Amino acid sequence: MIFDTHAHYDDEAFDADRATLLASMQENGIGCIVNACAAIDGLEKTIALMEKYPFMYGAVGVHPDDADQITPEVLEKIRQLSRNEKAVAIGEIGLDYYWHKEKEEHRIQQDMFRAQLDIAREEKLPFMVHSREAAEDTLNIVREYVKGGMFGGIIHCFSYGREIAREYLNMGLYLGIGGVVTFKNARKLKEVVEYAPLSQLVLETDCPYLAPEPYRGKRNSSLNLPYVAQAVAEIKGVTPEEVIAVTEENAKKLLFCR
Ligand SMILES: [Zn+2]
Repeated sequence: MIFDTHAHYDDEAFDADRATLLASMQENGIGCIVNACAAIDGLEKTIALMEKYPFMYGAVGVHPDDADQITPEVLEKIRQLSRNEKAVAIGEIGLDYYWHKEKEEHRIQQDMFRAQLDIAREEKLPFMVHSREAAEDTLNIVREYVKGGMFGGIIHCFSYGREIAREYLNMGLYLGIGGVVTFKNARKLKEVVEYAPLSQLVLETDCPYLAPEPYRGKRNSSLNLPYVAQAVAEIKGVTPEEVIAVTEENAKKLLFCR
């Protein structure tokens, strides 16, 4: 079954029909979903979701957008929540220089990225990275941590080219592939998917964002993942069933490691 490694079902975009939508997942072939925390108030919401739904797991952490709001208390909370048996990763964490251009913001993001990677290491969990317009700094920090010993990770919504992909793949990390791979203008990502071994790819929605074609621009959900599997299958010259089976196995191997 399809494993959605990165979704945001705590988002208000799902307030009107969250229960009905989530109730339809299993019958539509969606086996497991990881809800990734973004904002600080997403931490509790993610825990509530994974306690309510047997197929739902959580990544706990705070997105670089909110790095300046992370206090020592928030870090302690992430650590405590990460000990929940359904917490499977620390995320989404990382660097975003697209929305944040100031040097001081970058410094804070880097500090908080490191602080959360420390938690991943100490709690023996994989990490889930968000990186936008911050290729070099993200790579340097991730490389340093992996060298020191980590429990694997996913570069979510991978948006860089083949050279950067190779670095992460050589570290044994996974690339998260979502709706963007179905876009006509996504040449760079299609090249990455062609280049990367299927054994190091995982599927993700990042819903409510990044709906695949033919729903580009609409609200996304895990139900659209067959379109992503189809696009990956065409690029790799295999069947969508194989893409679904292998990426599910990859996700389970990484995320159910503890
Ligand atoms: Zn996300």
